[in-house]
Amino acid sequence: MEVLTIKQYEKTGILSLKDLTLPNDEQLKKGVAIIECVQEIPCDPCVAVCPVNAISMKDINDIPKIDFNKCTGCKRCVGICPGLAIFVIKIRDDNALVTLPYEFLPIPKVGDNITALDRAGKPRGNAKIVKVNRSNKTTVVTIEIEKDLAMEVRSILLD
Ligand code: SF4
Ligand code: SF4
Repeated sequence: MEVLTIKQYEKTGILSLKDLTLPNDEQLKKGVAIIECVQEIPCDPCVAVCPVNAISMKDINDIPKIDFNKCTGCKRCVGICPGLAIFVIKIRDDNALVTLPYEFLPIPKVGDNITALDRAGKPRGNAKIVKVNRSNKTTVVTIEIEKDLAMEVRSILLD
């Protein structure tokens, strides 16, 4: 008899790092996309938009898989994902850049101060917006934040 295992995120709606495929330290220094899409849904614009074919799926219902060695961190997949499930992380010497999708108003501006939020929506510190890209319907925002928070912060609240 098949035993159905319910994952923690299916109860809470909140992913944790153990649910995700993660890059190594060298790949994080280069800057790569983290795909936080774990449900088999018919969706694949992330595959089509990637200029270096770093994202793949067996079929449209599959969970996307990323090749961190191919990913250049170009961020195109962040603004195209309807599930707001892709982030680009780049670890630098003294801080980190987190690029995330943002669909609220007002549109953030470079230089705005924000409160950084984790996957549960809890405040995790203050940060500054360093880049805003509006070439898609979804605004793509890059924040500069403490390195230790790079794999935790996934949303922002404008101050
Ligand atoms: S960041 Fe660019 S290169 Fe990397 S997976 Fe997304 S679209 Fe592809
Ligand atoms: S575009 Fe986003 S929601 Fe759709 S399969 Fe890719 S990561 Fe998942």
